[in-house]
Amino acid sequence: MVTPATAAERPSPSAGPVPGAETQTDVLIVGGGVCGTALLFELARYTDLGHLTLVERYDQLAQVNSKASSNSQTIHCGDIETNYTLEKALKVKRTAEMIERYAALLSEPERNRCVFRTPKMVLAVGEPECSALRQRFELFSPHFPAMELLEKAEIAEWEPHVARLDGERADSPLRPEPLVAIGIRRAATAVDYEALSQSFAAQALAAVAGSPRQVDLQLGSRVEAITPETAADGTTTFLVEVRPHHPGARSQPGDPNAQAAAAPHRIRARHVVVSAGAHSLLMAQNLGFGLEYSCLPVAGSFYFTPDLLRGKVYTVQNDKLPFAAIHGDPDVRSPGQTRFGPTALLLPMLERYRPASFFEFLKVLRLDLSVLLVFWQLFRIADIRNYILKNLLFEVPWLRRRLFLDDARKIVPGLQLADLRFAEGFGGVRPQLIHKGEQRLMLGEARIAAMPGLAFNVTPSPGGTCCLGNAVTDLEAIVERLGCGFDRQRLEQELYGATSPSP
Ligand SMILES: Cc1cc2nc3c(=O)[nH]c(=O)nc-3n(C[C@H](O)[C@H](O)[C@H](O)COP(=O)(O)OP(=O)(O)OC[C@H]3O[C@@H](n4cnc5c(N)ncnc54)[C@H](O)[C@@H]3O)c2cc1C
Repeated sequence: MVTPATAAERPSPSAGPVPGAETQTDVLIVGGGVCGTALLFELARYTDLGHLTLVERYDQLAQVNSKASSNSQTIHCGDIETNYTLEKALKVKRTAEMIERYAALLSEPERNRCVFRTPKMVLAVGEPECSALRQRFELFSPHFPAMELLEKAEIAEWEPHVARLDGERADSPLRPEPLVAIGIRRAATAVDYEALSQSFAAQALAAVAGSPRQVDLQLGSRVEAITPETAADGTTTFLVEVRPHHPGARSQPGDPNAQAAAAPHRIRARHVVVSAGAHSLLMAQNLGFGLEYSCLPVAGSFYFTPDLLRGKVYTVQNDKLPFAAIHGDPDVRSPGQTRFGPTALLLPMLERYRPASFFEFLKVLRLDLSVLLVFWQLFRIADIRNYILKNLLFEVPWLRRRLFLDDARKIVPGLQLADLRFAEGFGGVRPQLIHKGEQRLMLGEARIAAMPGLAFNVTPSPGGTCCLGNAVTDLEAIVERLGCGFDRQRLEQELYGATSPSP
């Protein structure tokens, strides 16, 4: 059982580094989203490393893509995501289950803040989708025993607003189109990735409490530069320059207090992992790594309706489209509201709602013929072209609700315009990478293993789901390089559910 985090162990900024000073750490993690904090937790709990540091730009953890309002809050297990092949679904399922296992280690109140159990289904509408979904059920159900095939009347029992023309009335007629769904009655379906990040950090602090080991959380601090340095004995360490980060703060020119407060400090780290979302690529490329990639940021917006769904309702994916179809989800932070989305808007920014990140986007775009070719390959397919244009229109005030209504009615046929509200300020940016050499859009995450001791993780969806699994990859590399103690058996039992030690 994970120790309950005491008030003293709840994540908060460290006492504050001294400007100009140089401190030492074993592992420095850049980025306090769900990926960086998952690694912090695993290193604190399963290794004996003496000093761990996490540096996060904002004053709180998980304020970018892992923020509860930025993503769809889904644990992607591969059972209702029809854009996953069976092979990918089984891979994602293994890492997705790690979140549930982590949650089982927590006290009940902490677990209830992070992980939520609801029904979920993927809905097929019209004959071609229905027959594809029935085939999918045959293929997938042996691997996902909780799956049920739902005919129209059963869908109406699970989700009246989906199968009936008027979900408020039990005697309302069923909608006329062919309808079938794959449902999972009750499972851990939703995660508040912001609360999960806070929990990881709190549990990392709890894991070292009472020992000489230290976990140093430096919030409100921006990593400005990472310089690899190799000593005469061949050992490489990394000098990391960190500066206080107070977006929006203004000071008088020449104010000596402000200058001192903004002065950088340095941390010498034996190993560095950058989990800074799209900024991981920017930082890698500043050091000359990952130059084979360009970045296509895809923002996602959401719409709110009143409470129409009991669980998550996904729709069947058009396989010509590279991004997941919209779905409806009860919002875990706003009881009584259903969130529909996300849309897929090509947005020239590395961070949503931070206009200055446009210039950072220009740096990682690295526009050349191979990038243009990938754009051309996307735009020449009519389905993708129309989809991109439609998603642009989803952002136009007045028009957007009317257009989105059409799409959302695939899930809730009786939805009315007055029920639909654009979720202002919601939705992050998925940093989709383009592999320039292979001239293709990559859909999953990327890990740039720049050099021994330095790695950069770029994590579009389903990066939240895979946070603990991806962290194990970094943990293994750290253990191998630094030769520290590692309680592998405990990790495998707690996070993978292994019943006996691996050989
Ligand atoms: C619309 C949308 C829907 C999604 N839905 C899902 C879903 O349902 N399920 C799922 O599994 N995934 C989903 N995702 C993906 C998921 O949100 C991300 O993969 C995940 O949050 C990435 O976590 P991260 O820690 O890598 O990045 P982030 O959460 O973005 O954290 C990166 C951190 O690095 C910090 N940082 C950046 N630069 C620096 C620097 N120089 N110094 C210090 N700190 C720095 C940032 O401030 C930030 O806190 C969705 C994403 C979007 C946009």
